[in-house]
Amino acid sequence: MAFHRQAKHKARKKHVCDWCGKLILKDCFYFYSVGVTDGDFSTLKTHTECNDQIKWTLDKTIAEPGEYDLNQLRDLYSEMNE
Ligand SMILES: [Zn+2]
Repeated sequence: MAFHRQAKHKARKKHVCDWCGKLILKDCFYFYSVGVTDGDFSTLKTHTECNDQIKWTLDKTIAEPGEYDLNQLRDLYSEMNE
């Protein structure tokens, strides 16, 4: 996945984080991102710290941007942090 566009928002209602699966509570800041995987666009909402984890994982992978989807990135992240 590569980020196509990204904006920081303040939650007006509860959301579920696409990275960790936990709630993004009302009034918390979160990232709304448009990601690209294999030419397909997907939107995701993530906690700010989860967004950092995604960026970290993208930095560490030697794959082409857009090669991995979010689930694969999450696997890579947990492998690298064992
Ligand atoms: Zn999260």
